[in-house]
Formats: sequence, C-alpha cells, structure tokens
Amino acid sequence: MRKHIEIVLPVWDEAPNILPLVEALDAATADLRTRFRFSYLFVNDGSTDGSRTAIQKLCAERDDVRAVHLIHNFGHAAAVRCGLAHTTADAVVLMDADLQDSPAALPQMLGSWSQGAKTVVAVRGQREERDRWLFHLFYFILKRLSPGHPPFGTYCLLDRAVVERLIALKESTRYFPTLVSFASESIATVRVDRKARGNGASRVGRTGLLSLAITAFLNASDFPVRVASVMGIFCSLLALGGLSAILGVKLFTDLAIPGWALITTAVFFGSGVQLVCLGVIGEYLSRIYQEIKQRPAYFVESADNSQHHKKVA
Ligand code: UDP
Ligand code: MG
Repeated sequence: MRKHIEIVLPVWDEAPNILPLVEALDAATADLRTRFRFSYLFVNDGSTDGSRTAIQKLCAERDDVRAVHLIHNFGHAAAVRCGLAHTTADAVVLMDADLQDSPAALPQMLGSWSQGAKTVVAVRGQREERDRWLFHLFYFILKRLSPGHPPFGTYCLLDRAVVERLIALKESTRYFPTLVSFASESIATVRVDRKARGNGASRVGRTGLLSLAITAFLNASDFPVRVASVMGIFCSLLALGGLSAILGVKLFTDLAIPGWALITTAVFFGSGVQLVCLGVIGEYLSRIYQEIKQRPAYFVESADNSQHHKKVA
C-alpha cells in the first residue's frame, strides 16, 4: 500500500496564491504518486479575503483536499499546531501557502524519509526576500544560544512518530524549530532556495518576526537571565570601585571630587541596567503567565472533507 503524505498549509488571506500553489504541488508530486498517496490540508487561520471560498471550491472538486477553518486569526504557530492535530498521515509536510517554500524540494525530502529519516528540514540556500541580513543575524545569535540546531523555518517533513511527539508538547509560547529539534532523534536537511512571496505582503511582518525572535531566544535558553545577573554583579563591582576611588581621593588628597557629571552618568547607568534586568524578568513572567492560563491554541469553526474533526487543541 502507498504511504499517505499530507501537505499541511496554514493560510491567512492568501486567496490569489491558493490555486497556483495547488497547481505547483500537483506538478511537483506527479512523478511520486506511484509510491505515495498525497493529500492537502489547508488550515484557514481566519482569512477575511476570498481564501475560504477558494479552498472550499477545491474541497468540493477534489477528495484529496481538506480544510479546517478556525473561528478567527490565531497566528501561524497555532495554525501549524492545528494542522498537525488534524492529520493522520504517515508523514506530514509543513509548508507556507504563499509560494515561498519551493515544492521542488519534495522529491528529496521524501527520498530522505524513505531511507529512514524521521525529520527532514529545508535549509535555506538563497533567499529572495526582504530583510535578509536580519534573518542572518537572528540565526547567528540563535546558533550561539542553542548549538546543534540547524537554521530552518517551518518547511519540513515530519514522520508520524515526530508529529505525535509534537502534539504532546503543550506549551503555548512556541518557536517551532526548537520544538522540532526537541522531538526528533536526528534532523536530515535538504537545501532549498527561499522564493520571494507569491502575492501580497508578509502576514507575519517585522513586528511579528521580532516577537518570534524574542520567543526563540527566551525558549532556547536562560542565557538572558544569566546576562542580567552578570551585569548586576559587574555594576556592583564598578560602583564599589568608584566608591573606593572617591573615598581615596577624599581621604588622601586635596582634589575636588568631580561633581554632577559623574553622578548623573552613574544614575543613568544604574537605572538602565535595572530596567534591562526588569525587562528580561518581565519577558519570562509574561511567558509563564501565558502557559498557566492553559488556553487552547485555537478554536475550529468547521471542516471540509474531514472525518477527523476536532473542536479544540
Ligand atoms: N499565516 C497564518 N496565520 C498568521 C500568519 C501567517 O496562517 O497569522 C500563514 C500565511 O498565510 C503563510 C504562512 O503562514 O502561508 C507564512 O506567513 P508569512 O508568509 O506571512 O510569513 P513570512 O514568510 O513573512 O515569515
Ligand atoms: Mg511568507
């Protein structure tokens, strides 16, 4: 029997990209269909453009296209989580719906999986998108925080076993690649160029990426907290040194102690450090708060072509 591969596609306002995407996927998988059975699962993350209609039309025409519609927009991470929870396939391919992830990588990913790899991730070669230097900086820092973690986004193939493990991870502040690494015995890679977006602007945007970067760094390690402590110690030592110097000058010389400049610098320095430390602690606190609320990541409104219909995460 052919193994079932489900391609999970989170969608938020991607109407013009949906048909070209399905055509590109059909073309890329044509030669693989003797060995694998493919289906596409759209997770409609509260789209307000024509995405829903486009997806529903496809579902009506084809049995191998399914959809889950969320009640409103919950964000990319939640949409991915929903997709994983709704598939029973032998392997799942996660891919953006904006044509940035090239389907040309599919044969290699499946080849690697057939040879026993449980997790195959697309490592980006060339990037044809905006703010490339920001991505490079992000991966540079992340690599130092959590070594052994290959730089990848969400384009990957996951074996059923890995999907089950990912579903079992219940945390709500999520940086997907870190979770994939945690849930995988090893990670195989496939090199693929990242295309420019098909249509429209990025849904995640710069602010979204910044918040994702902060989540990634904080989830990767407790390094920032340690930096705060080290800075605290450093400042105390500096202050102690300064105090000794002032006392020395006062006791053993007739020199006047430099006045307001030194004091204001010290005050600014001290309060800056305190604010940084408070901010770091606050970041962790807000994440703990997110976790203890234990809210479901999303709510499902309806599903098309789906027997497997879950209402919540
Ligand atoms: N997306 C989603 N919900 C969101 C944001 C994005 O389902 O709240 C989908 C989006 O439609 C696309 C994928 O996630 O298929 C990646 O989003 P985007 O292209 O905006 O991210 P970027 O490529 O800029 O990182
Ligand atoms: Mg994109």
